[in-house]
Amino acid sequence: KTMKKKEAVVLYPSPLIGHVISMVELGRLILSHRPSAAIHVLVSTAPSPAATAATADYISSVSASAGSSISFHHLPATTLPPTFSTMKSNLPTVALALELLRLDAPNVHSALESLSKHHLVLALVIDFFCASAVPVAKELGIPCHCFFTSGAGGLTHFLYLPYLHKNITKSFKDLDPDFIIDIPGTPLLVPSDLPNTVLDRGDRAYEIFLESSMNIQRADGAIVNTFEELQPLATRALVEGQCTPGGTTPPLYCIGPLISNHDAGDNNVDKGSLKWLDMQPSKSVVFLCFGSMGVFPKEQLKEMAIGLERSGQRFLWVVRNPPDQPDSDFDSLFPDRLLERTKGRGLMVHRWAPQVAVLNHGSVGGFVTHCGWNSVLESVCAGVPMIAWPLYAEQPLQRALMVKEMKIALSMNASRDGIVSAAEVEERVRELMDSEAGKSVREKTLAMKEAARAALSLGGSSRVALTRLVDSWIPAA
Ligand code: UDP
Repeated sequence: KTMKKKEAVVLYPSPLIGHVISMVELGRLILSHRPSAAIHVLVSTAPSPAATAATADYISSVSASAGSSISFHHLPATTLPPTFSTMKSNLPTVALALELLRLDAPNVHSALESLSKHHLVLALVIDFFCASAVPVAKELGIPCHCFFTSGAGGLTHFLYLPYLHKNITKSFKDLDPDFIIDIPGTPLLVPSDLPNTVLDRGDRAYEIFLESSMNIQRADGAIVNTFEELQPLATRALVEGQCTPGGTTPPLYCIGPLISNHDAGDNNVDKGSLKWLDMQPSKSVVFLCFGSMGVFPKEQLKEMAIGLERSGQRFLWVVRNPPDQPDSDFDSLFPDRLLERTKGRGLMVHRWAPQVAVLNHGSVGGFVTHCGWNSVLESVCAGVPMIAWPLYAEQPLQRALMVKEMKIALSMNASRDGIVSAAEVEERVRELMDSEAGKSVREKTLAMKEAARAALSLGGSSRVALTRLVDSWIPAA
């Protein structure tokens, strides 16, 4: 008599720290609905520039704490084709990371086969950077779902890319800067709102995204870290299949907001910022933090500092050194005696702050963010209105959505040279903290905080979507 195999759900995140964290949180959520299953996380060991020490640290801390319910499997090193070394030297970072994940498909195949020997693999859940695993799962007859860590806006434009490719003859970067791009469920965009990785058709990253988009259309589901009430237009467009004209949109599962309570990245988290916040008046502090990778040139730091000083507002600012001055101390980065003048009213923290705790502190009243999706959701859940200052990847698109669709943020605008002036910083910060426009985004954000809570509670849209997802896999007998 054969033993009944243990149920397993296999997760395959891209090795970017933010993506790994979101995927593991999704794993925990799945476990809460299907406690009998084991979660197996495939970790790419492609020599990817995206795989950082922070990812490795995070994985070891989860392995240590989650016991046997979540386990990690490092895929073998990718065998690179001989042509790759010449190709590699010409590829920008994102294209290289995508290419390496793409080459990992055979490793994913073997990992799934070997897990299947002892497990009943219910489903494979992949990051959208790992779309080459869709055909692999299809071949093995395993349901494959794609997890979008960057919200419904990330998904609408990604699914619509092949259609835009067919109907626009040029690279987005060569279009008129005012050219209107109309993506279903998305406010009207201009080329510079799109992720920089899709601007150039000649870029390998563009080709891989195009191929990935087509692969994702064949997936069995799209799981999105958002909730319907936050992104009603995008959600409707997706459910109605508007983003894949002539193709298919996989069934949509909006299961968010999914937020990690893990202190990612750095164990030497500075608790001083929370103590300092304890001494500030209610909702009086503007928090500035730009994700795990955000850095600015010295010139920009200076403008920010002057703008913050002139705004007269209290601020807590996570500062990283400019890339070309990794070792300079604070004093040398800022204008003369500025630190002294803002002492008591402003606090600068080096490199990392416990963001979720900070946003939920009663003294914080506003958040200047780079629009990384995790940061956006964390702010919504804390009911803190934002100023959107995108830096890279899909962040310009998120800004457009946050400002025009969700109305939970004001926009920080750069001048033509790409620098945000001190005057702009001063004006926007004041506007957020002390104006009718600021009041309106604050009210909308608070309403979304309540909507998020409702979506996650019993009978709420996200809770129902998750049940629907887990039930779509073979039922536990
Ligand atoms: N984060 C933090 N402290 C910092 C900077 C970032 O705790 O000083 C956390 C933040 O709370 C969020 C994540 O790191 O959970 C960043 O993810 P996001 O998607 O916002 O941006 P990314 O780093 O992926 O660009």
